[in-house]
Formats: sequence, structure tokens, C-alpha cells
Amino acid sequence: MTPRYLGIDVGGTNSKLAVLEIEGDHRTVLATATIPTGAGDPGEVVGRLGAAGARLAAEHGPVAAAGAGVPGLFDEASGRIVLLPNLPAAWTGRPFRDPLAGLLGVPVALINDARAFTLAESRMGAAAGCPTVVCLTLGTGVGGGVVVDGRLRFGPSGRAGELGHQVIEVDGPPCGCGNRGCVEAFAAGAVLCRLGGRDTPEAVFRAAAAGDRRAGAAVGATVGRLAVGIANLVTVLWPERVVVGGGVAAAGDQLFGPLRVAVAAAAPLVDPASYEIVPAALGPAAGAIGAALWAREGPGP
Ligand SMILES: [Zn+2]
Repeated sequence: MTPRYLGIDVGGTNSKLAVLEIEGDHRTVLATATIPTGAGDPGEVVGRLGAAGARLAAEHGPVAAAGAGVPGLFDEASGRIVLLPNLPAAWTGRPFRDPLAGLLGVPVALINDARAFTLAESRMGAAAGCPTVVCLTLGTGVGGGVVVDGRLRFGPSGRAGELGHQVIEVDGPPCGCGNRGCVEAFAAGAVLCRLGGRDTPEAVFRAAAAGDRRAGAAVGATVGRLAVGIANLVTVLWPERVVVGGGVAAAGDQLFGPLRVAVAAAAPLVDPASYEIVPAALGPAAGAIGAALWAREGPGP
């Protein structure tokens, strides 16, 4: 029987699950599911995730291993949560990997959710078949990851690939990470909303498309800053594809058209024909798919 793997993407509101069949380069999504992450003690949340994962694995497995994507930082050695910025502070320091593995009855590999998205889009999504890939997720923050010569760059406890925290302006505005002038400090959803005078990034893009000057200027500023960050990555890594996902990416050509022009202008050493900047393709299940892929590929020994 072809090996199957479970992926769990832990979200602030909902968590997503997926079961994949993987053999060599042949990868198939067999099932996906969504459950409310729910409030309460982290121990209860782990119990819910474990029960939902075990149920899906019973229906579509058996699975050889599981991966869990978390929206923040974890410690690889202990399997404990270090910080989940958008979940209650009670998560800090809590064991996560081992209790989840106990409930599922299979080994669990942890991965940051943006890295899981990167792995999924590079293997099965918008950058499938590309050896070197840069992925960004635009939302509350700016997450990301890189695949170099076919391998996800993971780093200690999965910390490599924080593309949103490149400094693009010395002494720029403060960023949630404690530094100043990061890409995220310019391109986070809340910044676009504040500049554009609307409640959601989507509303800012709609207003800009309708000719609102303030919203148009906000979109222009965000695209310009994002382009500098992407141009740096393109110059350093020469990826075949840059994948942009998250809520803001739904703006489509209104975002991607000017972004492609601005990146090409800011990366003059790189032939613009050598790379493409494309929207993510896998949708909301990308994180769970990436976590399942990580269960197979893992950080290695
Ligand atoms: Zn930062």
C-alpha cells in the first residue's frame, strides 16, 4: 500500500487537516477537513486536534506519520510551543508534539505554518516542478519560506525563511518582531487598511480600483515596499517562481501587475524572463497539505 500521511494546520479560529498519499513524486490529496480550533486550555485544543486527526486517519489511512503546522515558534528538540502570537499566551512553553503524537499513535513533525504553505505550493501548487522557490503569505503579518534546489530551507526549529522580517528601511517604522523597517511593517494587512482608510485589505483594493485616491496611494505604497523585499530575494536566490498567497493576494492582477513591474525594476541584475511571480494555487488547505508533506520529508536526523 502506498504510504499515507496526515497534516494538521493549527489556525487561530479554524484548524485544517489533510491526508495525502505520497510515493516518490506522485502525491495525492485523499481527504481534507476543517474543525474549529476552539477556545480553552491548550491541552483541550490538542485533544480536539488529536481526535479529529485520528478520525480522518481512520477513514482515509492508516497514516505512517503526521505533520503539524503552527502559527508561530516552536522548539524542535522538546516539541514545545515557544510563541503563538495570535493564540492565547497559555500556549507558551506547552508541550505540543508529544501529546499530539500520543493521541494519533504516529510520529509527529512540527513546522511553521508559512513554511508548510511554502512546501505545499512548491511540491503540488503554483511552483510545482520548480527547484528554487520563494513563497510569501500576506495577511495579518507577512510569512514566508524558501525552497533551494528542491529542499525546504528549514533551519534550527524551522526558523529560516522569515521573509517578512527583512529590513528594507533603516530606522523605519517599528515591527511586531521588535526590529524596525521590516517588510511586514509596511505590507501587513493592518498597515494597508490604515493607509487606505478601510476596514479590510480587500476593501482598500476595491476602493483603489474604483478610483479612490487615498486607497490607490495605499496600494501603491504597499506594492512598492513588497517589491523591494521580493527583489532582494530574487537577486540572492534566482528562484524560478515567486508565489504570493494570503488574503491580500486575492486582489489578483491589481496586485500582481504592478508588483511584477516593480520587482523587475528593483532587481536589475536578474533577467525578468528567468522568474515568474504568481498567485498561490492550493487555497486554504495549503498549510495542512504542507504539514502532511513535512511528515514525509521531515527535518531529517
Ligand atoms: Zn520584523
